[in-house]
Amino acid sequence: MEKFLDKNPDIEERIDDLMKRLSLEEKISLIRGKDFWTTNPIERLKIPAFGMTDGPLGVAMHSSFKGKRTRFPASIGLAATWNKKLAFQMGKTIGNEVKLAGRHQILGPGVNIIRSPLCGRNFEYLSEDPILSSDIGAEIVKGIQSERTAACIKHYITNNSETKRIKISTEISERALNEIYVKNYKRIIEKSDPWGLMASYNKVNGIHSSENKYVLRDILRDQLGFTGHVVTDWGAAGRAVNGAVGCIKAGLNLEMPGKFSKTMTPKKVNNALNKREISEDDINYVVRPLLRTFIRVGLLDEPTPESQKIIDNSEHQTIAQKIAEESIVLLKNDPKILPVDLSKIKKIAVIGPNSKKIFGKYLQGGSSAVVPPKFITPYDGIADYIKGKAEIVSTAKEADIVFLVLGLNHGGNIFKALLSKREGDLEGKDRTQYALDDEQMALFEQTIKINPNTVVILIAGSPVDCSIFLEKAPALINAWYPGMMGGNAIAKLIFGDISPSGKLPVTYPKKIEDHPAHISKDRFPGNLKTLKIHFEEGIYVGYRYFDKNNIEPQFPFGFGLSYTSFEMSNLRLNTQKVQGNGTFTLTVDVKNIGNVTGAEVVQVYLSNTESSVDHPPLELQGFDKISLNPNESKTVSITLDQSAFEFYSEEQHKFIAKTGIHTLYVGNSSRNLPLKAKIEYIS
Ligand code: BGC
Repeated sequence: MEKFLDKNPDIEERIDDLMKRLSLEEKISLIRGKDFWTTNPIERLKIPAFGMTDGPLGVAMHSSFKGKRTRFPASIGLAATWNKKLAFQMGKTIGNEVKLAGRHQILGPGVNIIRSPLCGRNFEYLSEDPILSSDIGAEIVKGIQSERTAACIKHYITNNSETKRIKISTEISERALNEIYVKNYKRIIEKSDPWGLMASYNKVNGIHSSENKYVLRDILRDQLGFTGHVVTDWGAAGRAVNGAVGCIKAGLNLEMPGKFSKTMTPKKVNNALNKREISEDDINYVVRPLLRTFIRVGLLDEPTPESQKIIDNSEHQTIAQKIAEESIVLLKNDPKILPVDLSKIKKIAVIGPNSKKIFGKYLQGGSSAVVPPKFITPYDGIADYIKGKAEIVSTAKEADIVFLVLGLNHGGNIFKALLSKREGDLEGKDRTQYALDDEQMALFEQTIKINPNTVVILIAGSPVDCSIFLEKAPALINAWYPGMMGGNAIAKLIFGDISPSGKLPVTYPKKIEDHPAHISKDRFPGNLKTLKIHFEEGIYVGYRYFDKNNIEPQFPFGFGLSYTSFEMSNLRLNTQKVQGNGTFTLTVDVKNIGNVTGAEVVQVYLSNTESSVDHPPLELQGFDKISLNPNESKTVSITLDQSAFEFYSEEQHKFIAKTGIHTLYVGNSSRNLPLKAKIEYIS
């Protein structure tokens, strides 16, 4: 048997063998797709086509033979669980469904930093913070790849808004690029070794990502040691000013989609070779990582399964529901109207535009649209739960309690939605307004006047202005987009089967002008004449800015209420000093001092007390989530390394750990950190 087909040798030896056998023509055929979702097969060498499918909320319908698959909660909701185990399970389930859908790679997770509350694709991303984003992102990748399916982290890099996404240039300092945006990818790569990555549409400091050697080669390959392959966002290479030469020199491995994209065509690549603008070594450099992915997913030694039409798997759906349950954030409960006691309440109204809406239609919201075999809306979930115990009524007036389900939407099929005036969580379009639309606000005012026992449930993939709800409603819940099982999760939470344990992965400003991305239009959506978006807030993204400037947010990063209370105490460190590449472990005791079972997130932030380098007052460094029964205590240990002390030096073009005394803060939100301890870093 040819060595490259043999499972036993080391993967690099298999690639060496295959590289020797491939003709130049065959190599060139591999770096541009065959059709919308697959690469060119090479029958002579028994290399089948490598197949991709969209994500990240599950296996998207349009790209997986029109099949129905498990629809998970929005990525921002997954991040709100702060639960790495659930992230792994979601990844593993998706990895499995990709195989069952007859594909080899999922185009996800989406890990762009949530820089603005108004970005149309926030629902596909995780957090404003690179540590939370990368810790959750890495677990998704590990889960996906545990099924021998390739992940594809996207969209690299600084594609943090949708307006003019194909033409706009991110203008960003070297420090901010590296310390916030690259750091997110750096940690995912270190922790999970993703097999794929997607280069974004936008330019970074004037150069399109697909031909940007600085971001694709110098940073990604040389500094971060990325071993997987880089695919373009769909059609992105078509914008490359230096065409095939620019992309290949930058180390781009695959142009997609095939047929429709015309940058790395055999003709153009051969021309460039003949003119000696690129060499055969350059081709080898870009082919090799692709072959690595092919071998990693088993393309050369496992038959690709036939695509299943419908995946209706209750175990997968249970995981989707568990994520939804832990993702919901209780933002207000005063006076304590929740959980609802069904022995006292008899008539319940579930109203509002998102109460019966199905999120999960074909191409709804864009490329992440997973169409599930069934969909439980908040109305369905609540109606089912109260069956035999209480009755659903249709007006606020006759109800003992009202659940008013408001929020954003995905605007229906993306092609129609982009042309309409409506805005929401939508690929290709940013929101222009922080508040919900006037119609929903009027409905709220009307409802709360008729019935003061109105609980607002938000279904939204991005922060929305909650000031009026905070002022007038007794309770407010953010359920994000909770996926196909979301209605059940909401019902379990409002009737007290579970206590809320989600924490915000983003800061909610009181008003949009308070937010660092919205100080000027140049910052967001960018200057649409010069086609530049200025990341002038630098490293002060999200809570880093609010803390630095002492601005009170509507809700701080990391915030979320519970039906019970926890006490954190006894913070201790295993060492007072860390040197060089050393690690340290902090330990804290957590006790449930309330009356019901619940889960709490221990959040660890660090502040450099002595450094002269400009830096945020606090930065998240680690976290852990634990579940506790009433009166139960547990000890949580979190180990950190020297990267907790680092910043990016523009003088030395690298991360440097700051020496001196640092302060660690521990608590359950970025604005509630009762415990602290000092630690010294010595280089
Ligand atoms: C999106 C990607 C997606 C690709 C393929 C692009 O428009 O930005 O996230 O994976 O299309 O559908």
